[in-house]
Order: sequence, then C-alpha cells, then structure tokens
Amino acid sequence: MTFSNLRLIKPLVLALDKKGYTEPTPIQEQAIPHILEGKDIFGCAQTGTGKTAAFALPMLQLLDARKQANGPKTIKALILAPTRELASQISENFLAYGKNLGISHCTIFGGVSQVNQVNNLRRGVDVLVATPGRLLDLMNQGYIKLNNIEFLVLDEADRMLDMGFINDIKKILTKVPAKRQTLFFSATAAPAIMKLANTILNNPVHVAVTPVSSTASLVEQSVYYVKKEDKRGLLKFVLVNNKIDHALVFTRTKHGADKVVKDLAILGISAAAIHGNKSQGARERALKGFKNRTIRILVATDIASRGIDVDKLSHVINYEIPEQAETYVHRIGRTGRAGASGVAMSFCTRDEMPYLKDINKLIKKNIEVVSTHPFN
Ligand code: AMP
Repeated sequence: MTFSNLRLIKPLVLALDKKGYTEPTPIQEQAIPHILEGKDIFGCAQTGTGKTAAFALPMLQLLDARKQANGPKTIKALILAPTRELASQISENFLAYGKNLGISHCTIFGGVSQVNQVNNLRRGVDVLVATPGRLLDLMNQGYIKLNNIEFLVLDEADRMLDMGFINDIKKILTKVPAKRQTLFFSATAAPAIMKLANTILNNPVHVAVTPVSSTASLVEQSVYYVKKEDKRGLLKFVLVNNKIDHALVFTRTKHGADKVVKDLAILGISAAAIHGNKSQGARERALKGFKNRTIRILVATDIASRGIDVDKLSHVINYEIPEQAETYVHRIGRTGRAGASGVAMSFCTRDEMPYLKDINKLIKKNIEVVSTHPFN
C-alpha cells in the first residue's frame, strides 16, 4: 500500500516522501479513504500510531480542493487538542504535510501572551489548532468566529475529558455549524467517551488500531525492584550500564521531576524537566534540546508529556510507576513509534507493587523482572 493508492494528491505525496514516510500506517490506511469521502470518523488510536497524519492529510486535500481564489479567509477547520504540546505537534504536522499547498494555519493555547496569536488570526487562517480554554477566551473577546467551520477534529478526546474540558467542549460545539465533518480520536472507547462521541458524530465510521491494553509489541519492557532511596543510584546504573545516551524519564510529580534533573546534574548528566510549572518558553527549550540531543535526558510528568513526539526515541524510563495502568501504556508508547523498536524500564518500590500489578493485568502479561542489578 502506498499513499498514492489512498488517492492522495501529488503535493501531499511529495511532502510525505520528504518526511521519509514510505507507506501508510494502519490507522492512515483505514481512515483516509473514509475522510476523503466526507464521512465522520470515530478513531480509537493512541499517540504513536500516525493518527495525526490520518486526519491531517485528507483534510488538507479536501481544503485544497475547495479553495477559493478570492475573498477573505475564514476558519474552515478546527482541531481541538488537550495540551499545548499536542497542539504544537499537530501544527508542525500540518506545516510539514501542507507545505506544497497554500493552506494557512494557526495554533492557539494558553500560558503565553495572546498578542501573536491574535495577530496571526487577523491575517486570516484556514486551519485553527487550539486548546479549549484559550479558544473560548479568544472567542469571547470576539477574535474568533466558528460559523464557517467545515471540519471539526477532537484529538485525544479521552484526555480532554480527564482534564475536565467537557464543559468547554460543549460551549464550543454550540458555535460550530451542525453541517460539518467531524473526526473524533481517542485512545479508549470508555462509556463517557462513547457518550460524547454519540452526541457530536453523524453516522460515523469506526476505525481502531492497537487498543490501549496491547502495548506496542515492539517495546521491550522490564522492571527493576528497588528501594526508594536507591532509585537515583539505579538510574545512573542503567544509563551507564546500558550505554543509554537519550531517554525520556517519567516521574509522578513536578517536584519529583525537578529532583531527578538535579540528581543527574550532580552526576554530570545533562537533563531538563518538562512539567506544568514550567513556562512555555522553558518547555520549548527543553524539548528542543532533547530533540537535537544537546540534552540527554528529558524528565517529564504525565500531563506535560502528552504530545511529546521525538523521532527514534529509544528508551523510556519509569522512575516512578504511574497510579493508572493506562498511563503506563501511554508512557511507553513514546518509544517504539511507527514501527521502530524501543526499550521501557520501570523502577518499582514495594509501595508501587499494586500499581505494577494493575499494569500487568491491563497488558495481559507480566513485565520481565531484572534481578541482576546492584540495588536488588
Ligand atoms: P502520531 O500518532 O500522529 O503522534 O504519529 C507518531 C509518529 O509517527 C510521528 O513521529 C509521525 O511523524 C510518524 N508517522 C506518521 N505517519 C507515518 C508513516 N506513514 N510512516 C512513518 N512515520 C509516520
């Protein structure tokens, strides 16, 4: 299967060539033809499956076909995402895929000044990528009208519900035309998700890949039992012993993330933290440094990590085991993306054993225990 087989137009196929994508991922193969036909979609797919391109490519193609040469630009497509990181990531994808088409886009999210965002909106945009809070804020200030929306995308809808955006989403929905194409993506099909989906989708086609409980099969997973006070030493040990020069490390708390960065600095290992207390500038710098490998270790909390997309990330280390088993799946899904191999290591104290038990139950296997380490 090629992208041309999916009847994507040449400018898009050329942009994909440039990105080095040789063939569509399963979610792309399943969703693109239906979206091109104008159907609504309920997509059950987690990050790492190529779902962004699955909705961005056909939308760009349809927007291009409907492009009018003259007249003022109005927002025709709205993409809602739960976090700034994910919104930025989606925008980067639109930019890369649409570079041979004259479709403009703009990203808005909270935590930064609105001035640049408003200036971009004033110039007129076709595609708006937004987090719900800032979108409502700018709508209330009169900067954004959604009455010409033809496409509405809800990305990571499960996360949007978890983060309490349901009322914001409902308010936004009252402002978009009923006649539109809606694409809804979620990592789970939990009852609350289905309820929301049913209220906004019109006769949707269901597409699903890699249910959340089946962890990316290419990720090699292991667990190290360790005392809390020895985790720092164990982190150094695994980094050195396995010659890991690039890893995403997860902690449960912001304070924990900062502490790991400090501990690593003492060991002479370059690291940066990314979490909700960091300014947008600091987050972007950390992510950029990690991507260009001037920073070896990125330490993140779960919410901040949503949308982090690092090509060829080889290692994920769970410095602390997450309380929710699904979170573990999201975390390790950062590696082993789009067919690449990856390694996920988890450090587990006695107190964290119940969480590990839940994870083993969810993924339907017992993660292999490594007992050959000095802190056992
Ligand atoms: P997503 O699930 O949208 O976050 O995408 C996960 C990663 O896969 C991103 O780094 C994309 O750039 C990459 N990707 C998306 N589609 C393809 C493809 N067809 N071939 C290779 N990589 C892809």
